[in-house]
Amino acid sequence: MCGIFGIYPHKQASRITYLGLYALQHRGEEAAGIVSRCGNKVYLRKSQGLVSDVFDEKTLSSLRGEMAIGHVRYSTTGSSNIKNTQPFYTKSRIGDIAIAHNGNLTNAAKLCSDLGEKGSLFQTTMDSEVIVHLLAHSPVKEAKEALTWAFAQLQGAFSVVLMLNDIMIGARDSFGFRPLCLGRLDKAYVLASETCALDLIGAEYVRDIEPGEIIFITKQGIESIKPLAKTKSAFCIFEYIYFARPDSNIFGHSVYEARKNLGKQLALEHPVQADLAMPIPDSGTYAALGFAQASGIPFEIGMVRNHYIGRTFIQPSQFLRDFRVKVKLNPVKDILKGKRIALIEDSIVRGTTSRARVKTLRQAGAKEIHMRVSCPPLCYPCFYGIDFPTKKELIASKHTLDWIRDFIGVDSLAYLSLEGMLSAMPLAKDKFCTACYNDAYPIKPGKNISKRILERGSVYV
Ligand code: AMP
Repeated sequence: MCGIFGIYPHKQASRITYLGLYALQHRGEEAAGIVSRCGNKVYLRKSQGLVSDVFDEKTLSSLRGEMAIGHVRYSTTGSSNIKNTQPFYTKSRIGDIAIAHNGNLTNAAKLCSDLGEKGSLFQTTMDSEVIVHLLAHSPVKEAKEALTWAFAQLQGAFSVVLMLNDIMIGARDSFGFRPLCLGRLDKAYVLASETCALDLIGAEYVRDIEPGEIIFITKQGIESIKPLAKTKSAFCIFEYIYFARPDSNIFGHSVYEARKNLGKQLALEHPVQADLAMPIPDSGTYAALGFAQASGIPFEIGMVRNHYIGRTFIQPSQFLRDFRVKVKLNPVKDILKGKRIALIEDSIVRGTTSRARVKTLRQAGAKEIHMRVSCPPLCYPCFYGIDFPTKKELIASKHTLDWIRDFIGVDSLAYLSLEGMLSAMPLAKDKFCTACYNDAYPIKPGKNISKRILERGSVYV
């Protein structure tokens, strides 16, 4: 769960990257960073916090040059500390390398221990650092060959933006788990996790980086190679369900439309007698619109969001999560009092926010609450970059539907079926990774990265 961005060549590269990261802030609120390059000099600014906290006019002015890459972070591997912020920058025998990575590598532990044997000293606990070490160990120094050699050894999810000397590189793993698109702004090329970043900076969408594709952007133009082993696509369906911004197009299609279709399908599968249909804002809003349109139940905004707070799950500690749940949404009592409510949520992960919301709605006078969820029960962890890394934190992995209904405190609860979810998607069903719903992992994960590195005697800084 991270956002990545890059632009080259542009006179305002860092400022535009800052704006791009602003648009991608929803993909990670823990830390932000930008690396820029001017001549042979590289400039770096990264820190924990929101994009608006990390950069100001002074820091942006110091990030000189026509090439810049940026990252917003939500940690899924590696602990949440300053060392583990990105872009990760280092000098190496093949030159200056900076990387911004979205996704999780499933063979990072194995690669780490192999590299450790060869003398690599890891500075962070991020799997992304492995990519840089591999590049530094490449038997060839030429950029294209070195990258092909390094990427060919990676397993799992990687959408990356890299700087290698005066070349900007964009690449996506062969499954295409995480999104990455290419845009154009004046003479510059832009790489971004989602198209909402292109919209903000006024760039034109060119196309998605294809699964297994590596593109090289230089002052002379763009070159594409597809050296990685071909596999079937496995686009993360949860990007459509929850993670991406609704005003983005990812994997070539509108997130907004996909979410609305999920809501329509939900209304067909699980009709309900209700006076109003309402979302848990903001994530459930688009599915609730579709649900209301398909069912004919009037759409209402029964809870209003305080816009000065980020996503509730995004703070890693449970204490902060609980607090932010309460402070984020306020019920509109006059709309809710005595009403039968169809409450639409995009997904249930741990169940804790849903439970808190339902309590608030009851206190505000709701008579009946019928919860409808626009995806199937999340039962299996994600090893490719979404933050549910273990089974035990997923409420549906250990409890029955009735148990979850009672825990959350609703009168009825129903989830969209797997087939229903897939039928609402803009792409054929075999294009998606649905492992968190049905255990169908495209690649099995390796063992825990940190544990393996420590076993080999590495010391974290
Ligand atoms: P909960 O009721 O606690 O399961 O929270 C559900 C809401 O949090 C839904 O809108 C989910 O889509 C959203 N969410 C998305 N990703 C995560 C995550 N990794 N951890 C927790 N909640 C998440």
